Parts: sequence; C-alpha cells; structure tokens
Amino acid sequence: MIVVDPSYEIQDDLDKGSLVTRLEACGRICYKSEEKITEGSALPFVKKIAEHGHNSVMEMAVVTLRLHCSSQQVTDFLGCQPKYFIIDLVENGLLVTGSIRAFRELYLSFPETVLVQAMVDFLGASHSYLLEGVWQSVDRNGVSSIAVEKMTLDQVEQLAPYLLLRHRFLSVKFIVNRAVTHEIVRHRPCSFLQESQRYCRYNQDKFGNQVTFIRPMFFAPDSAEYTLWKQAMELTEDLYLQLLETSTPQAARTVLPNSCKTEIIVYCNLAEWKHIFRLRTSPAAEPSMREVMIPLEAEIKKRYPELFH
Ligand SMILES: Cc1cc2nc3c(=O)[nH]c(=O)nc-3n(C[C@H](O)[C@H](O)[C@H](O)COP(=O)(O)OP(=O)(O)OC[C@H]3O[C@@H](n4cnc5c(N)ncnc54)[C@H](O)[C@@H]3O)c2cc1C
Repeated sequence: MIVVDPSYEIQDDLDKGSLVTRLEACGRICYKSEEKITEGSALPFVKKIAEHGHNSVMEMAVVTLRLHCSSQQVTDFLGCQPKYFIIDLVENGLLVTGSIRAFRELYLSFPETVLVQAMVDFLGASHSYLLEGVWQSVDRNGVSSIAVEKMTLDQVEQLAPYLLLRHRFLSVKFIVNRAVTHEIVRHRPCSFLQESQRYCRYNQDKFGNQVTFIRPMFFAPDSAEYTLWKQAMELTEDLYLQLLETSTPQAARTVLPNSCKTEIIVYCNLAEWKHIFRLRTSPAAEPSMREVMIPLEAEIKKRYPELFH
C-alpha cells in the first residue's frame, strides 16, 4: 500500500490551452489515462465522450461571450430561462459565460431563439467538433443583427470586480480521500470530474499494483491510532486485491474505505469558490477538508485581494 499526503493544484496550465485539450486533460482523470495524451488524441477522445453521454466532461471548459444586441433580443433570450449560465446586462447587450455542455443543451432546447443561434453559430464556426450531434452550419438568410465576441481570459481578468467574481472560472485538482470528495460534490453550482473506482483497477502496473491511501491528519505517525489505521488499510487492500482476481473493479471496490486516495477536479466561478471557502475553512468544517481548503483560499486571496478579503 502507498500512503500520500493530500494536495491541490490550481490548473493554470489548462487555461492556456485550447478548449478541446482542456476537456481531454480533465476527462482522463476518470480513467487515470493521462499517459495516453498525445498531440492528436484530444479530438477523438472528446468526440467519443460526447457520444457516450459522459456529459460532465463537456462542462470542463467555459466560454465568455460579449453580445451586442437589442433589448428585445435580451428579453427573448431570458425568456428561455437559460440554465447553468452566468448572464449579466452590460452596455448595449450581455455578457454570457457557459460551458460547452450548457451551450449544447441550450441550442437543443431553443434552436429558434436568435440570440441562442448567434452564440452557437459563433462557437460552431471555430469549434464545430464541440457541437457535433447538436448543431450544423446553417444559412440564416442574411447578416445577424447580433455581434458576438469571445472574451479572452486576460479580458475576463480585467472585468470590474462584480463581473470578475461571476465570470472568472477557476479549476482546481485535489488529491484527497473519498470522505473529502463526498463533501465537496455537495456544492451544486460546480462541475466535477473524479477518478473512478469503477474504471481504475489498482492491481495494474500504473497504480504500482497496490491501493493508495491518504495519510489521515487525525493520527500522529507514531501513535497507536495510526498503527491501527494502517492495519485496517493493509487488510482492506489485501481483500480488494483478492476480489479483483475474480471480480470487476466495481465489485471489488465495495470493500474500499473513505481513506482511499482519489483525484477530483472542481471547476466553478470565483463567487462559488468564495462560498466554498466560507463553509469549508470554518472551525465547524471537517478537518481533512480544512487541510486543503485553508491553504487554497490563501493562494486565491493573494491572486484576487480585492475579491477575497
Ligand atoms: C460544517 C458542515 C456540516 C455539514 N453537515 C452535513 C450533514 O450532516 N449532512 C448533509 O447532508 N450535509 C451536510 N453538509 C452539507 C451542507 O448542508 C451543504 O449541502 C453543502 O455545504 C453545500 O453548500 P450550500 O448548499 O450552501 O451551497 P452550494 O451547493 O455550494 O450552492 C451555492 C449557492 O447556490 C444556491 N443554491 C444551489 N442550489 C440550490 C437549490 N437547489 N436551492 C436553493 N439554492 C440553491 C444557494 O444560494 C447556495 O448558497 C454540511 C456542510 C458543512 C459546511
């Protein structure tokens, strides 16, 4: 068995890449198949994922659009009650942030709404592969009265504080135990992707042929309690590996405990991070949760001192 400390990483690198490379990098956490990432692997991976309906992967990239449109077009759009979008009225139009999934599903539900058409046509012109099965290039009979611009991340970072808080999405990868992830996933506005004990078979070479556990912060390493915890993990690992000889990972995992190491990506806007920190760094929160959330909050506070104080 392997024992590791919990950790987290703000995924700045993914912000620099394309949408599709971001989706692949996040999606592969479920299978722990990051070693399969090559120059040409992103597109086929994402297409397959979309076909299979593994929809949460398509939530892992958001796009912010600036729309110049009329107030009637805004009213028609808001009449659709768009779900899972961040929408703000700005001068002469709207600021809209949504994930690829949100845009796909909006178009499926409201293909006749001109503002929806304008946004999805705009995305489709450069990223048609992300809208496959949902959208096709259409001749709309003339020039649209709606101007659409994609905001770069740098432009989003320059927004006024209220808009920055709402439109800046930040993803963080945590390596923590499964008790912590069980609590994190209660934060409903977030998107999540997590290492799957159904797909990962921990007797494989890439996992070191063993189960990895998170060091419990509750017990000092030389304490009697730590020795008991370690015995329990050794026993459970032994049973899991025996079960794998005749059973699938999803069956064998039924003996795995909360202490199992897992990886999870949490993706949400800064407003939701603020809410999470308020709940998960307080003395009432679970100590293993505070172990990662307190330093993460400090790091994000340094980046956005005017928003997190
Ligand atoms: C110390 C502590 C102890 C806890 N103990 C337990 C426990 O014993 N058992 C248990 O089941 N859970 C427990 N929880 C989980 C807790 O009840 C919340 O589910 C979790 O913290 C998610 O936070 P949230 O609901 O405020 O907001 P999020 O899900 O993060 O949502 C953010 C905001 O969106 C809005 N929102 C999202 N969805 C809805 C909705 N459907 N309706 C209305 N508003 C919505 C709210 O304004 C909310 O503030 C505990 C949490 C903490 C911090």
